[in-house]
Amino acid sequence: MKKVNQNKNDNAANRNSYVGSIYNIGEKNIKTNVLNSLDPKWKQMHEKGYIHIHDLDAYGLTYNCLTFDLLNCFPYEKFKGYNSATTIILVFDFLKDLFEKMGNEQSGGMSLANFDNDLAEIFEKMDVNYIENEEIFKASISSLINWCSQTYTRMGQTSYYVTLNIGLAKNDFARFLAKTLINQFNNSGDLIYKPNIVFKVKEGINRNPKDKNYDLLMESLKCSSKKMIPTYLLCDSKMESDNNPELLSVMGCRTRVYENIYDTKGAVGRSNIANISINLPRIALETMENKSTESIEYNFDLAYKKWEEIAKITGDILVDRFNKTCLANKSFFPTNLAYKLWCKDMNINDLNEVFKNGTLSIGFIGLSEFVEILANQKYWINERVYQLTLDFVEKMRVFINELMYEKKLNFSLLATNGELISGRFVDLDKKTFNSRVFEKGFYTNSFHIEVDSLLPAYKKIELEGPFHQYSNGGSITYVELNEAPIGNEEGLKDLLEIAIKADVRYLGYNFKKDVCASCGVSGNFDVCSECKSVDIIRVRRVSGYLEIQDYFTKGKLYESKQRKKN
Ligand SMILES: [Zn+2]
Repeated sequence: MKKVNQNKNDNAANRNSYVGSIYNIGEKNIKTNVLNSLDPKWKQMHEKGYIHIHDLDAYGLTYNCLTFDLLNCFPYEKFKGYNSATTIILVFDFLKDLFEKMGNEQSGGMSLANFDNDLAEIFEKMDVNYIENEEIFKASISSLINWCSQTYTRMGQTSYYVTLNIGLAKNDFARFLAKTLINQFNNSGDLIYKPNIVFKVKEGINRNPKDKNYDLLMESLKCSSKKMIPTYLLCDSKMESDNNPELLSVMGCRTRVYENIYDTKGAVGRSNIANISINLPRIALETMENKSTESIEYNFDLAYKKWEEIAKITGDILVDRFNKTCLANKSFFPTNLAYKLWCKDMNINDLNEVFKNGTLSIGFIGLSEFVEILANQKYWINERVYQLTLDFVEKMRVFINELMYEKKLNFSLLATNGELISGRFVDLDKKTFNSRVFEKGFYTNSFHIEVDSLLPAYKKIELEGPFHQYSNGGSITYVELNEAPIGNEEGLKDLLEIAIKADVRYLGYNFKKDVCASCGVSGNFDVCSECKSVDIIRVRRVSGYLEIQDYFTKGKLYESKQRKKN
């Protein structure tokens, strides 16, 4: 195995380069400056690990992620005067260029809510026919896939976090584009694991055999059985069933943007501006410091009060960050200004009028360890403790809704994916406390059941499902499979149905994917089954995007090694 790369920043995964090393130095400097400019109490809370202010380097300079409003201002004039073949190539080049520019204009991911329908509409407007240009479309989509997976020029070292949502294809052109994306991705090599593709599952469109796009869903599951991608946005789940599926979109990191106290609802043209995660196990450790002899209920109440204090301050930090971001220099957003990818035009609006449509998320990590400390047992073993846990998450959401009306900004509760903090919080907590929950070296992300629970998949889905409805800032449930379930798309469909009924909003299938660096064979092994090589590349998803294990941050690496199948 290759050596684990120790040079990490906040991003899920990094490579090294000259530009990247310069970027890292700058990033570190800016973070220190930002922290020093904050209220000393806020700074201390971040440094001591009560909270984690994500992407500190972007504080007041830019927002996090954005679902592009691609149709709003698509530059058709750029493509005039070319034949169909050239137009197709140029449009896909334009998309790559857009992702690249926006990747350097914001701190997080980029998403298209309806890759299939939007591109079909764009090409139809330019009189480009898909039947006559099938091969060029296939080649262009393959080229986009390769670009997303293999271009490491963002910050000189990382790839671009691109998510393409599909599945609602309205006509044959859109169906062709969705199918081509799935098939070209399915046929790409084992080491092609981006972009993140999200299939939106909706009754009457693709969920049942009689639905027009059912074939696309089954193709998609076939692809997931080999590649772990697509993941599935379940539009019939409790949280989304009343929402317009065309306006739903997932960011690869699971962020959800939908409700809006201002005018435009849905994800399109909107952003999660910033995110701060709260360290739940720390709250439990402090609650139990004086060895409470009271009831478990009492421990939960006490812990909630502590959480509320921290959440109030977290809200203040997010408002401060929001206000500063609204004062950012518009010249930092040239691509946004040119293509109007936000729901409001930055050219004519004060940035506050634009950014107030974004969300501010308060996240949580380590619910599982939090309960283990408070109740001395796992949250999913005992009905009473399970209910207390669910009530706790509901209370967090109620508080955040109140905060939203008080501050008049779109606050949301995010079931945080961990990234760097799953390990960072443990390291900090170890300095003050002793607990068996530190042993594995990371905290379980969001409300997830521990990765080594050995629960059957359907049970894990049913237990995690109810937590999704409160996590309006984003959440996902993963099913850990023993090996790539190739050829068993019916089995995956069954799990998907269980998930919809359990109110899971967003579902992903995970399995270990090892690829032999010498001969290219893939499977789950330490020694290649074909050529006996021990030079193995391990493709894994711990949270968010797929990555090669060697590039994981420390917490993710521990978690990845701990995973057991459901
Ligand atoms: Zn081999």
